[in-house]
Amino acid sequence: MLVRAGEDLPLVVVSYPRGNIAFAEALRSAICAYRLLSQETRESYADVLGRLPSMVVAVLRDHNQCTCLGNQHPPGTESRMARRLASDTGMRVGEIDLAVESIRRWEPLPLAALAAEPAPADRPVLEEFRFQIAVLAVFLHELEHLAFPDHEEQDVRRRSTSFYAASLREFFSEQLGVKYGI
Ligand SMILES: [Zn+2]
Ligand SMILES: [Zn+2]
Repeated sequence: MLVRAGEDLPLVVVSYPRGNIAFAEALRSAICAYRLLSQETRESYADVLGRLPSMVVAVLRDHNQCTCLGNQHPPGTESRMARRLASDTGMRVGEIDLAVESIRRWEPLPLAALAAEPAPADRPVLEEFRFQIAVLAVFLHELEHLAFPDHEEQDVRRRSTSFYAASLREFFSEQLGVKYGI
């Protein structure tokens, strides 16, 4: 699946396990959610986006053997698909992977942190959005590794976690009128 996300994001080529197009849809929705965020929140990744290759391959799995939520593939370790895309297009191609089911279970700020208990009917919507933002945060986290291979993990993690928190706070209060109790 090809996701053309707009000028400031690279072209994303999504590779997913056979029969699991839902994984690819999850990443596409996550990238669309990025568009709904305020300029201020998106600004936190401006330096990263400015330094990315024009094409990024995202390899989606349910879980990673290494148990990470995602990995950046250093030059020389990319899949055959990424190497072929690079030679066919002459573009610089980066590659990351994301463990979609692990991300779904990753809850740094559980919905229990909401100041007001959401109505049961709202929960699936909130949960789905939380998942989208989690996928987006891990995606941006790996893009930062791609753009700045020398950045320390703890700093990369700090940035993606605060992006995740800011995005949820913003979306829940602006789109859904619910306040996060953090
Ligand atoms: Zn790993
Ligand atoms: Zn990392």
